[in-house]
Amino acid sequence: MKGTVKVDESLCKGCALCIPVCPKGLLRVANERFNARGVHPAELDDPAELCTGCEMCAIACPEAAITVFRAVKA
Ligand code: SF4
Ligand code: SF4
Repeated sequence: MKGTVKVDESLCKGCALCIPVCPKGLLRVANERFNARGVHPAELDDPAELCTGCEMCAIACPEAAITVFRAVKA
């Protein structure tokens, strides 16, 4: 794993701007649930751990709801 992201769902407004910018297509709208704002939040869907930590999604998010974590080389 090179990176991962955490979506703060309480901040997410469900705009989906983060989804097309991910080069790996790893973000999705959680259609099966709503957050406290009453929208479907974005979530990471990365079972194969393909996230590179490139930060494209975090940069695109107008709510600063996405935090990127990158693995540190030992
Ligand atoms: S950090 Fe990059 S690879 Fe990882 S979910 Fe965001 S846009 Fe996709
Ligand atoms: S860009 Fe931000 S606010 Fe919009 S869906 Fe993605 S995480 Fe939520």
